Amino acid sequence: MTHLRSTVGGSFCSCGGCNSSPALSRRQFLCTTAATAVAASTVIGTASAQQPGGATTPGRAILIKGGCVLTLDRAVGDFEQADVLIEGGKISAVRPNISSPNAEVIDASRMIVAPGFADTHRHMWQGILRNVLPDGSLEDYRNIVQRTFGAKYTPDDVYAGDLFSALGAVDSGVTCVLDWSHIHNTPDHTDAAIKALAESGVRAVFAYGNPQNETGRYWEMTGHKFPDDIARLRKQYFSSEDQLLTLYMAAPSASPELILGAFKAARDVGARISIHVGVGEFGRSALLEKLNAQNALKSDTTYIHCCTLNDTEWKLIRDTGGTISIAGYVETLMGHGNPPTQKAIDTGIRPSLSVDVETSVPNDFFQQMRTIFSLQKNEVWARRLAGDKNPPKFLTVREVLEFATIEGARANGLERKIGTLTPGKDADIILLRTDRLNVMPMNNAVGAVVTSMGPQNVDTVLIAGKVMKRNGQLVGVDFERLTRLGNEARDRLYANANVKNARI
Ligand SMILES: [Zn+2]
Repeated sequence: MTHLRSTVGGSFCSCGGCNSSPALSRRQFLCTTAATAVAASTVIGTASAQQPGGATTPGRAILIKGGCVLTLDRAVGDFEQADVLIEGGKISAVRPNISSPNAEVIDASRMIVAPGFADTHRHMWQGILRNVLPDGSLEDYRNIVQRTFGAKYTPDDVYAGDLFSALGAVDSGVTCVLDWSHIHNTPDHTDAAIKALAESGVRAVFAYGNPQNETGRYWEMTGHKFPDDIARLRKQYFSSEDQLLTLYMAAPSASPELILGAFKAARDVGARISIHVGVGEFGRSALLEKLNAQNALKSDTTYIHCCTLNDTEWKLIRDTGGTISIAGYVETLMGHGNPPTQKAIDTGIRPSLSVDVETSVPNDFFQQMRTIFSLQKNEVWARRLAGDKNPPKFLTVREVLEFATIEGARANGLERKIGTLTPGKDADIILLRTDRLNVMPMNNAVGAVVTSMGPQNVDTVLIAGKVMKRNGQLVGVDFERLTRLGNEARDRLYANANVKNARI
C-alpha cells in the first residue's frame, strides 16, 4: 500500500486504513486549517484547506506510476503502461518511465488511469432525496420533488443535498459536475449551495436557477432574487478563473420572456447558460425558434434532453455552436422522450452526458455511458432488421467514453482545463481498478471501463492534483457526522413538507 502524504494544513495519510486511525486527531487537523468553515468543518476535513485551483502541496509533485493510461488525447495517445507526472496541480508529463525522485508516488500498476468524468446537468440540491421517486414520472417529479419538497427547502437542506451529491460524484469518479440549481427561494439558499460545493472539493459548475413553490409559478413568489442575483454571485464568489467553481445561468422552463431575461442577466456577467428543452409534450413548442427570432441562441449555451425538438431547432443548436446534454437513463424512465443520441450525431453534434435527478437514478457515470450505448445500438439494429439499407454507424465504446469526458468538459466550458490527460491541463484524474472480479483478467481497457466497470472500480480520484479518494475511500470525510447531517436534513424536510416517510 502506498501511503500518500499531504502537507496542506498539516500531514496526514490518505490511505483508507490510516484515515480511520485515531493516531491523528481530526480536530487537531481541522483547527489548523478550517478557520472559516462552519457546518462542514464537522464533515469535511480537508476541502476548506484548498489552495486556489485545488492544488496539492506547492512544490511537491505526484507521480502516478505504471498504469494503463487512457489520455483520450489523440495527439498524446494511450499507453498500455505509462506514468503521469503532476506538478502544481497540473499534468506536466505523460509517458513511460518518468523519473521524479521527489514526487509522491501512487502505484497504478493494477489500474486504468483516465480523465475524470464530467457531468453536465445534475440537480444537486436533491442529494437528500435520493431514490424518493423510483417509480415516478416527470409529472410526479414536478409535484413531489419540486412543489412539495422544493417549496419547503431550507438553506440547510440545500447545503446537505449539495454536499451529498458532490461527495457522491467524487466517490464514483465524476470529478466535474454542473449543479443545475433551481432551489433559490432566497439568497441564503444560494449561499448554502455554493458553500457545500466549495467545501466538497469537487470541480463544480454552479448553474444559478429559479426558486420553487407549491404552484410551480415561481415568478409569483416574493423573497427570491432570480435571476438578477447572479450579478452578486459573480462578484462575491466567481471573480477568479483560477478556482474549482465556475458560474452558469440555469435558465428556467418558463415563457420566452422570462427565459430571455435570464439569458440577458447571464450574459451581462459573462456566465454561460444551460436550459432544459425538448422535454415531452411540453418540449414541442418550437421554443428555440422563438428564442432565435430574438437572436438569443449563441455558442455559450448547453441544451438539456432535446428529446422532442423539431429539425429546425436541431439545426439552430448546431449552427449557433451550442452543446447538448443527454440524461439517457432518466429520459427512458420518466417520459422525456427517446434519448436523442443518434439525432445529435446525425446533426453533427457530439453529446455530453448527465445524471439529472438522484431522486430516480444512480449517481454514477457507468450507468449513463451504458444506457446511451445500448439505446443507440438497439436503434441501429432495429433499423437494420427493418430492412434499412443505409443505417447509421454503431457507436463505439471509445466514443461513449469521450462523451463522458471530453464532451462533458466542453459543455461545462472547461475544455481548456480538463477532459483529457494532456500535459498543461489540470490533473482531474481517476484510477480504476482492474484487479476486480468484474473485469479481470483485462483484455480491453476502454471496453472494461464502458461495458463492465462500476463505482466499485474507482480506487483513486484527483481533482486539480489534490487526492480526493484513495484506496477506495474518500479522503478526509467523517462518515459518522455526514450520516447524521443527512438523516437530520431528510427528517426535517419531511416534517416541513408534511410528508410521511415510509422508507420502504
Ligand atoms: Zn434536469
